[in-house]
Amino acid sequence: MNNPLNETHAPELRSWVASANQVGCDFPIQNLPFGRFRPAGSGEAFRIGVAIGDQVLDLQAAGLIDTDDMSIVMAKGPAERLALRAAISAGLAEGSCQQSAWAKALHAQADVALGLPCEIGDYTDFYTSIHHATTIGKQLRPDNPLLPNYQWVPIGYHGRASSIVPSGSVLHRPNGQTKMPEQDTPSLGPSRRLDYELELGVLIARPNALGEPIAMADAEDHVFGLALFNDWSARDLQAWEYQPLGPFLSKNFASTLSPWVVTLDALAPFRAPFHRPEGHPQPLNYLDAPANRAQGAIDIELEVWLQTAQMRAAGQAGERLSSANYLDAYWTVAQLVAHHTVNGCNLRAGDLFGSGTLSGPQPEQGGSLMELSAGGKRPLTLSNGETRAWLEDGDTVILRGYCQREGFRRIGFGECRGTVLPAARSV
Ligand code: MN
Repeated sequence: MNNPLNETHAPELRSWVASANQVGCDFPIQNLPFGRFRPAGSGEAFRIGVAIGDQVLDLQAAGLIDTDDMSIVMAKGPAERLALRAAISAGLAEGSCQQSAWAKALHAQADVALGLPCEIGDYTDFYTSIHHATTIGKQLRPDNPLLPNYQWVPIGYHGRASSIVPSGSVLHRPNGQTKMPEQDTPSLGPSRRLDYELELGVLIARPNALGEPIAMADAEDHVFGLALFNDWSARDLQAWEYQPLGPFLSKNFASTLSPWVVTLDALAPFRAPFHRPEGHPQPLNYLDAPANRAQGAIDIELEVWLQTAQMRAAGQAGERLSSANYLDAYWTVAQLVAHHTVNGCNLRAGDLFGSGTLSGPQPEQGGSLMELSAGGKRPLTLSNGETRAWLEDGDTVILRGYCQREGFRRIGFGECRGTVLPAARSV
């Protein structure tokens, strides 16, 4: 793992961008996440920026890069990547001689539109929470909830990149084919069991050649960083279509990705040992490495918030439905990379992995409504008296994430936000 702790993580470091020094700010100088922005309402090409406090630093205008192609920035080798982070940190630090020049390269986040952090290439969704897999498995197969391959194979499926949308996008409730148990034949109509999935997105930075697997020891050098990811799911479509080849139209109508990629370099202070629970098999050798055991996991606190249309009308920001921690994932980022390429499959800069729904061990830590409402049987009662078994039109789902640890500055992921609109007219 080549993400050393260095002076960019020092908790006492402060920025001349005053908003970055506020307690609880997601984007202090210790974070420096990458994204793409343009003036709000403009059709200009996206530019590459780094979030600092409530501002965005235009990296090209600051003279730090000479491209607006994020894949070039993402594909930098470890030494170049660390040098860029060090230069951004030094220039934004209090007392920097860059202050007057870089102040002109700042834009208020309130004045810009944030796009997807990069052109997304191929998209693979994993299933790395054993708690999610077990709870869902109990609903689908009460006698046999966790299939025997789960503890050995990082389970995943190939998704679709074309429908990955930036945070803030709206999505239409999907139409699709469903067959409820009481129906003799399936019918076409709007999904009645629309759900979200609390996930992290892993952005691949550096490619590997077809036929050349990535070893565990090198795996994280191929990863740029992490973002929040909502894999919207139509459970009624899914239940009818998922056998025998897995999810299809129940998943590919929209997935929402947050704008800021928090780099593995920024996450260095929040690493933790990876270990298997008592009684579980150890990973095969190609999924094992000393560095993965020592610090393969990442301590990221994750939250799901819901703002209904009624809450919005009443001026309420919404309420938290659940929280979970990425430490509870069954497989690490490095293991996902090593497994995905063990057969020689080639990854490319801009490819996206979804972690799979990240649920904690407790029932209230489910990362989807399917878990929290027990498959719709126990609707949640919200603080304003509304109930939810599944998402309703007008609902806004907001994912949040942050890392905090004694001795370090808290860093955050910002938000991943999407709003459900009624189904578009069907064919
Ligand atoms: Mn998913």
